[in-house]
Amino acid sequence: MSTPSILILPGDGIGPEIMAEVMKVINWYDDKIGLKFDVSHDVVGGAAYDKYGAPLADETLAKAQEVDAVLLGAVGGPKYDNLDFSIKPERGLLRLRKEMDLYSNLRPAQCFDALADFSSLKRDVVAGLDIMIVRELTSGIYFGEPRGVFKEGNERVGINTQRYTESEVARVARSAFELARKRGNKVCSMEKANVMESGILWRDVVTEIHAAEYSDVELSHMYADAGAMQLCRWPKQFDVIVTDNLFGDLLSDAAAMLTGSLGMLPSASLGAPMENGRPKALYEPVHGSAPDIAGQGKANPIACILSFAMALRYSFDQIEEADRLEKAVEKVLADGVRTADLLGEEGVTPVTTSEMGDKIVEALTASM
Ligand code: NAD
Repeated sequence: MSTPSILILPGDGIGPEIMAEVMKVINWYDDKIGLKFDVSHDVVGGAAYDKYGAPLADETLAKAQEVDAVLLGAVGGPKYDNLDFSIKPERGLLRLRKEMDLYSNLRPAQCFDALADFSSLKRDVVAGLDIMIVRELTSGIYFGEPRGVFKEGNERVGINTQRYTESEVARVARSAFELARKRGNKVCSMEKANVMESGILWRDVVTEIHAAEYSDVELSHMYADAGAMQLCRWPKQFDVIVTDNLFGDLLSDAAAMLTGSLGMLPSASLGAPMENGRPKALYEPVHGSAPDIAGQGKANPIACILSFAMALRYSFDQIEEADRLEKAVEKVLADGVRTADLLGEEGVTPVTTSEMGDKIVEALTASM
């Protein structure tokens, strides 16, 4: 297979700072392991507006469609707040997701031991937690027709429609089963088949795909409201959770926050397999461009570095290297290294964004 290609889009605010730390990691893989990537760089969001007059230029989109993985920092900032809605930085990101048809949104909730006390739940409930929520991202109630606010007699009614086709459910189910095979081999599918017809279809299709193609993976079903309760009670019972757009929106935010800081949370959005078998893919931290700390060396680069670890695992099949990178992050945190957002313990001096990146690279070297 040809050298895997990555398009780097740092974006705005802290985006370029955190991406510089990801580049240290990418260069480390090249220098020390001989794992080479064909890396190209471009702009998105406010930076793209400044350069091209639009938050995502057509040529950038064309590049994104060709590469094996896009790695994005974050977009947005006060400088762009007064732009017309159609050219706001966030529109660039939305266009990218839509045009690449990224229907499977992966949001891990992983709790490193050293940070377990940051969670609002008890240490033993979250320490060592490692689950993945797979949210359907391009259909369901946020897109279904009819929608709108209509006049009905003397009052207004607001309407949204939950609509799923069989193929939409099937493709996100496959994505979840494939992921489970690279992790703990368990999938729990969540819907509300007790009260929603779209939930009945969802459950049927997931069951059929499982029986026909993935019977080696353990499958269970849960109503989404019970799932929310179980996520707070004992989240470690799950490995991969697959669910629709609306429930996934809520469940992934709740699960992510079990683990503490926003500066720690990576994500991936995957689409259909390309000719080389790799899925179309966009990797990005969950957080935004944090304009309040931009340019001050205070940003935590870990969410962005862990997003690259997800690319190693899910786009490039480098499972051992993804493990190595996640363990390097874990080691650095266990050693007490903290950026300012992770301070809690007394007497700890925060490191800068760049120092955190250097420590992670040192830990990678120590792992050889
Ligand atoms: P934000 O995530 O940028 O920041 C929220 C808070 O978390 C801030 O106090 C910030 O300093 C802190 N924070 C975020 N990431 C951090 C990191 N890596 N290290 C340390 N601290 C971190 O959300 P916001 O303030 O609501 O939005 C700021 C801008 O980002 C807005 O323009 C918004 O539209 C945009 N945004 C972009 C994305 C994206 O690109 N995916 C997501 C959310 C918000």
